[in-house]
Amino acid sequence: MDAIILIGMLTKIIKEEEIQKAWKYIDKGDKFVIVTHVTPDGDAIGSSLGLFHFLNELEKDNVSVVVPNDFPTFYKWMPCAKDIVIHEKYPEFAEQLIRDADVIFCLDFNEPKRIEKLASTVVAADGRKIMIDHHLNPSDFCRLVMSYPEISSTSELVFRLICRMGMFEQITKEAAECIYTGMMTDTGAFTYNSNHPEIYTIITELVKKGIDKDLIYRRVNQVYSEPRLRLMGFVLYEKMKTYPGQHAALITLSKEELKRFQYVTGDTEGFVNLPLSIEGTRFSVFIREDKDYIKISFRSVGDFPCNKFAAKYFNGGGHKNASGGEFYGSLEDAVKTFEQSLNEFNPNNFEELKNCD
Ligand code: 5GP
Ligand code: MN
Repeated sequence: MDAIILIGMLTKIIKEEEIQKAWKYIDKGDKFVIVTHVTPDGDAIGSSLGLFHFLNELEKDNVSVVVPNDFPTFYKWMPCAKDIVIHEKYPEFAEQLIRDADVIFCLDFNEPKRIEKLASTVVAADGRKIMIDHHLNPSDFCRLVMSYPEISSTSELVFRLICRMGMFEQITKEAAECIYTGMMTDTGAFTYNSNHPEIYTIITELVKKGIDKDLIYRRVNQVYSEPRLRLMGFVLYEKMKTYPGQHAALITLSKEELKRFQYVTGDTEGFVNLPLSIEGTRFSVFIREDKDYIKISFRSVGDFPCNKFAAKYFNGGGHKNASGGEFYGSLEDAVKTFEQSLNEFNPNNFEELKNCD
């Protein structure tokens, strides 16, 4: 079937008035900045670069992507990833770009806190801000908010937005590669949040643009170092604790342990999912000692809302089945807090707590 017909059959998820407004801002805009969340993941980088390539195709030649800090090397193959401005490395340059922009896209995050040290500059900037995101409860700091938590990736939303503006033809192969990467990584290579049939209509069109989806999978998932694989072995053999009564599992890693395995950013990506392969495990937690705080990742399967757990005990949030949080204190205290919290709020016992915010 003709691409345009297939694309036209997609449900009109984004509201028409939002499409109109977004087009007006893009059409009139001259200097664009695309900002995404701290510790950018595949969807953050993929959606940002997907939009970047699209804007370039419209001959907007003043477009920058700004991220708060560096991102894993397995996303650096994406076309133009090397042009991304990392605020931690070039703070003044990044902030000047944001102050000068007349349109600022906020991609894959719902509140200023998620861009950490970039927050004050973005909030204070005069440019028109457009949020494109799929996290719950967007906060009110953008002029145009396109927030669709039912969509599994921001990259998919970027694709939908471009198509609804009538510009499917302006999606280049480069843009398609970035968009596909975001859709793939936010669904664990289409193993969760991936039952919406239209995802596959979109993939059909991306593949027709010439992307090599098998190669993209390998570039993201099969490019780790030997120490990283050994770290995974160590984690599974020695560092995973299970709580069968609560259908839960915990992995912890200290700074020393990470050093022992020559840890680099991204090496622990996916570890939190490993315990979910044990039958009956519905909630998995990974606590990692970072430079100056404790980073926690949560994953669940089924109804258990791990974002509520993250929000209630670890100052975090995210999606129902994939969320994160932070802890300030020792690793031991983080584990104690987790174990106490697990007694109160776990996959056996959460009905009455599900709706608490
Ligand atoms: P990850 O475990 O991969 O770092 O994060 C999974 C998801 O949880 C992210 O896509 C993001 O939505 C959310 N998330 C991670 N860390 C935080 C956090 O500290 N605060 C909030 N609100 N959400 C987070
Ligand atoms: Mn995302």
